[in-house]
Amino acid sequence: KRALKIQKIIKINTDAARFFYEQLNAPGNSEARQYLARRKVSESIAKKFGLGYSTNDWDSLYKYLKSKNYSDEDLADSGLVIARKDGNGFYDRFRGRLMFPIFDLRGNVIGFGGRVLDDSLPKYMNSPETLVYNKRKNLYALNFAKNSSEKRIIVVEGYMDVISLYQFGIINTVASLGTALTESQGRLLKKYAEEIIISYDADTAGQEATMRGLNLLNDIGCNVKVLLIPKGKDPDEFIKSNGAEAFRKLVDNALTLVEYKIKMLKKQIDTATIEGKINFLNRAADIIAKINNSVEQEMYIKKISADYGISQESMFAEVIKRIKPKG
Ligand code: ATP
Ligand code: MN
Ligand code: MN
Ligand code: MN
Repeated sequence: KRALKIQKIIKINTDAARFFYEQLNAPGNSEARQYLARRKVSESIAKKFGLGYSTNDWDSLYKYLKSKNYSDEDLADSGLVIARKDGNGFYDRFRGRLMFPIFDLRGNVIGFGGRVLDDSLPKYMNSPETLVYNKRKNLYALNFAKNSSEKRIIVVEGYMDVISLYQFGIINTVASLGTALTESQGRLLKKYAEEIIISYDADTAGQEATMRGLNLLNDIGCNVKVLLIPKGKDPDEFIKSNGAEAFRKLVDNALTLVEYKIKMLKKQIDTATIEGKINFLNRAADIIAKINNSVEQEMYIKKISADYGISQESMFAEVIKRIKPKG
């Protein structure tokens, strides 16, 4: 019974994706096409990602799906329509939004994200949790990224980041869709990539999510790096104004976990004073002590002691103090 319901919801989602796609390309709905053009999304990429449009009508999708003989119960379970409070029928969840179908690894449509075409709020809306959509267990565009010959996967925040990078030929990208990366998403990434590069937005929220994602992925044994986007931008804005080569350079210069943590530490602490410098070096020793590879530890100790004019011996001694004996 559950399996049948799952199949039914996927079928509803697939029909809805077709409907949204047709709406995007309908003569009367040029505002959505103009929006895509403004954001420099080509028609072929829009097609590749199955983008669509939900019109401002209250129930055009509902009516369309009813014409395909789906039951109200199944439609409500898909999350695409919502029962009116007065019991008088249903209305569409997504209205007046650019629609992004979310695919599973097999390419089934399991849910949707929708963006308004202007500055109104909420900017994005996603499908609710359903029998087929669990936002903590899926990564947007992993169905495409897994086909890339690259051994690394870049993790970005949003739909538009993935789509822009793809259009510029960087196809090994997935989005965690705004939520903090979860352990199941981490395990999924580990399965498909030898190296994971976090490339979140260059704002406070992005920075915090980076630190959490970095620790999470490192804890489950992933080889993880951080790509830093220059001030205030996200990967979509960056690649549009600087091009693919500039982005690839950022990928090549991505920081290791330790480099990133030390860089963040340096931002927090004023190392111009003796006190600040001591504080900084002590906290750097905390970070280095957590590396479980002696060669790596030695390299960072050499680098830091050279950078801050102290002996490798004293830095080494501080790191040793912090390493808990095993057993
Ligand atoms: P755009 O470039 O279209 O303005 P963005 O992807 O840069 O969008 P962000 O604000 O950086 O938008 O958010 C990153 C991602 O987080 C979005 O792509 C979306 O998946 C998710 N998100 C953002 N705001 C919301 C929201 N209000 N509800 C649900 N998800 C959201
Ligand atoms: Mn953001
Ligand atoms: Mn953006
Ligand atoms: Mn963004």
